[in-house]
Amino acid sequence: MRVLTYSRNVFIPVTDLCSNRCGYCSFRRDPDRARIIRRSEASRLISQGSEAGCSEALLCMGDSPWKVPGFDRIMASSGLAGISRSDFIDYLIELCEMSLAAGLLPHTNAGLLSEDEMKRIAPYNASMGLMLETTADVSAHAQSPDKNPVRRISHIAQAGKLKIPFTTGILIGIGESRADRLTSLKAISKLHKDYGHIQEVIVQPLNPKPGTSMSTSQPPMASEVEDTVRLAKKILPGGVAIQVPPNLIEPRLLVEAGADDLGGISPVTPDWINPERPWPELEGLHLKGYCLRERLPVYPRYILRGWYGNKTKRLVNALAGHDGLRCRTELKVINDGKEAS
Ligand code: SF4
Repeated sequence: MRVLTYSRNVFIPVTDLCSNRCGYCSFRRDPDRARIIRRSEASRLISQGSEAGCSEALLCMGDSPWKVPGFDRIMASSGLAGISRSDFIDYLIELCEMSLAAGLLPHTNAGLLSEDEMKRIAPYNASMGLMLETTADVSAHAQSPDKNPVRRISHIAQAGKLKIPFTTGILIGIGESRADRLTSLKAISKLHKDYGHIQEVIVQPLNPKPGTSMSTSQPPMASEVEDTVRLAKKILPGGVAIQVPPNLIEPRLLVEAGADDLGGISPVTPDWINPERPWPELEGLHLKGYCLRERLPVYPRYILRGWYGNKTKRLVNALAGHDGLRCRTELKVINDGKEAS
């Protein structure tokens, strides 16, 4: 029976302030409405995730929020001590530490970071991520300098040099062609061949949102998504999982086409990027014939290699079973830095 994996997570929206303006995005907010999550709210979400038995704290945010005029004011109004880019990185690390203390493994997707920032954050993360989205020059990214594919590939390569297990992916239906998808997948494949750190590649269909410039765009047809999964299966090196989001598209055909993973599914928080699309009940996904297994945000082969942040080691070892997937029967919880069975 084929194994299909997913991660039980809590989704922490660190900030919706973003220096890009992607044509399909309804997550980003202008500075007068944007917010950085307060400690109290983050703490509440982390506690909820912990109580619901989650394994992962997914920390997501807009790209380069520190470049937006008014960033310092929003930092101050969110009750944070400092107002600089470096202070914000410190805050991200603090959120990771809060997650670890509650028994959750952080997976941070913080957009483009400098090498130094990546080195600061990585020890507190089981894995990290950044969507490549596309290598094509699409109008949806005309006002999104951080979506420059050369910069994103360079960021993913940097993570590879640091041996950070990495999640990336492509977004389809944003104006790219099939040939562009092929080029994007080949770029990801090359990154993995060079550094061996790509644990999963998300194939994500556009979900047009009211109020965005792409609100009237047609989402890709299911057959196009299926075709892309088949392309990914053919191009990506063996062992790199293909992930599809079951709240955006019926997964059965995609799984049959080669998808291996359903990504993060949260019992406590919405998909903040697509809040109008609730997580499905796993039992209702018509996936009879597949063995659904819960995993950690770091994949088993990287656990074997020790490629996770050194601050996460104790918790990774407590949560992983003998096969590297999430162990439920031998669950150990860590409280105040001490393990208890
Ligand atoms: S999709 Fe991401 S990078 Fe683009 S505007 Fe939205 S938050 Fe920013």
